[in-house]
Amino acid sequence: MEKGLIEVRNPATSEKIAELAVASAEEVARAVRQARKAQALWQEKSFAERAKVLHSFRDLLIDHQDEIAETLTAETGKPLAEAYGNELFYVYDAIGFWAKNAAKYLKPEHLRPHLLKTKKVVSRYDPLGVVGIISPWNFPLVLTVGEAIPALMAGNAVVIKPSELTPLSALHGAKLAGEAGFPADLLQVIVGLGETAECLIDQADMISFTGSVVTGKKVLRRAAERLIPVTLELGSKDPMIVLKDAYLERAANACVWGALMNSGQVCTSIERVYVEEAVYQKFVEMVVGKVNSLRQGRSHDEVELGSMTSEAQLIKVESQVEEALRRGARILTGGRRKPGAQGFFYEPTVMVDVSHEMQIMREETFGPVIPIMKVKDREEALRLANDSRYGLDSSVFTQDKKTAWEIAEQMAAGAVCINDTLVNFIIPEAPMGGIKESGLGRRHGAEGIRKYCRQKTVVMDRLGLKSELSWFPMTQRKRDFFRRALRLLYRSGWKNKLANPNRTRQGY
Ligand code: NAD
Repeated sequence: MEKGLIEVRNPATSEKIAELAVASAEEVARAVRQARKAQALWQEKSFAERAKVLHSFRDLLIDHQDEIAETLTAETGKPLAEAYGNELFYVYDAIGFWAKNAAKYLKPEHLRPHLLKTKKVVSRYDPLGVVGIISPWNFPLVLTVGEAIPALMAGNAVVIKPSELTPLSALHGAKLAGEAGFPADLLQVIVGLGETAECLIDQADMISFTGSVVTGKKVLRRAAERLIPVTLELGSKDPMIVLKDAYLERAANACVWGALMNSGQVCTSIERVYVEEAVYQKFVEMVVGKVNSLRQGRSHDEVELGSMTSEAQLIKVESQVEEALRRGARILTGGRRKPGAQGFFYEPTVMVDVSHEMQIMREETFGPVIPIMKVKDREEALRLANDSRYGLDSSVFTQDKKTAWEIAEQMAAGAVCINDTLVNFIIPEAPMGGIKESGLGRRHGAEGIRKYCRQKTVVMDRLGLKSELSWFPMTQRKRDFFRRALRLLYRSGWKNKLANPNRTRQGY
């Protein structure tokens, strides 16, 4: 790989804020080798010892939170309040949660065999070694340092390849980790583009990838060469359903926040809205009114929306909106770059008269656009909501609990929020991840830490006899015994027939 430089720019001002060297293949390999040495020391520590170091790390993060928040806003353009309220909050809470719960989730499980009662069976969760985390740019701390916390608590070392657009927050976090009492090189950050990430896939013991579907498929293909485990947290096109009996004020507020938070650059953003015709007009008016009252500007101003993080993303949003307009959609507010603004500001936008012929209803937009569609009834809403190649998150608004739970059951998504939106991401007990093209694997919950482990089964004989029935020699007597035993054990219904000759039931 050619050694080059990456320029990091503030997307709200276009000012250059850093220039970083791209890690070479040899540097990536060295980082993983060093991480391996650190991991050997770290895995010997108890959960309580690991938790103690993580708490020191959190204290250091808190002591430096103003600098980190500045870094976050400078490299993303998001409002400063969101840097504290979303990114730092998530990481602090994740540290507390995993420090407390890792031992519970990873406790060796004592299993009781249904048949071989003379065996003691234990299933263990051992660390994988060096976990590679490859991240996007929309949450540069949550999806780097935040994602590393469960991996570290499970006893792994972590090497992070953050997005080339936003590497500074992760670098800041890793520097503080170095001062917090972790073994040296346990948590490292390597800077680079896709090629750097590929080098990491060639070296690490597992890859936790968050990013686009296109890149996710490349990651899976490359990891297949080494047969290392991979989790993929990918993009989506999350639907919101609003039924005629919904509490409309709450639904409209949820819609505006859930679609526009972080300028819509959230994997679980509301990206399409289906509203029952009885309340469609009122709901649209409410949403437009609320969107018109939002303030957009620089991170340090009192604003709800900052700039978008990349111009390429903004151009993608423009192109989807233009395509929808060509096909007959209407813009009720927004629909253009913010006039006179220097950075990548796209006005919060509401569109109607949209259809599933349009990219804006089918492809991930990842921008501040709310396309709203009128539907006849709940069946049509559900059919359209499920008409997608993605399936990450979703929401339904109705005051009828029974209907809400029925829709939740039928929604083709990794999560459904009833009368709420996005909230599942900050419930670390709840598994979070996609179905269909939105990904493989889960973050959070038991799976969110067990994915960073290799499961090992240990079986111990309790009796110590000189031989076992199934061992050699294979005599005719044994053969006859097996024949009789198989019939007795597995022939349908023999147990019930003995108890009640008129009833039949499947055997074991
Ligand atoms: P991206 O796929 O372009 O890049 C993600 C990371 O992959 C970057 O670090 C990039 O350098 C790296 N990369 C690029 N080429 C690679 C290759 N060939 N092999 C390995 N890694 C490579 O995504 P992005 O534009 O940075 O992020 C936006 C996407 O992330 C959106 O689709 C969004 O939905 C998704 N996302 C998903 C979740 C989730 O939890 N499901 C969370 C946040 C973002």
